[in-house]
Amino acid sequence: MDCREYRTNIRAFIKDELDAKKTIRLIRHIDTCAECKEELKIQFLVFEGLKRLENGGTFDLNKEFATKIRNSLKYSKAMESFHRVIQVAKAAGIVVTICYLLIGLLF
Ligand SMILES: [Zn+2]
Repeated sequence: MDCREYRTNIRAFIKDELDAKKTIRLIRHIDTCAECKEELKIQFLVFEGLKRLENGGTFDLNKEFATKIRNSLKYSKAMESFHRVIQVAKAAGIVVTICYLLIGLLF
């Protein structure tokens, strides 16, 4: 994926609508790409800033941005682990089904 593709995912990331795999990729990318990180911060500021203005709350961009990145990474890694467990369980289910079919054919 190049920077342009990562940047198309930024809006979905900010709205928590990006899937776990893409979220992890985006966060890893912004660790190494200052331009995409800046773009993400700007869009985060605009999106969150507008929400806060409507609610009349205060806003600490750097702190909330760091929290958003940390929480998204934690959640996405947990979701990926969960999906891996589901994949293993499905594979195990298929193996068990095949074994039952083979036993049924043999006896
Ligand atoms: Zn980039």
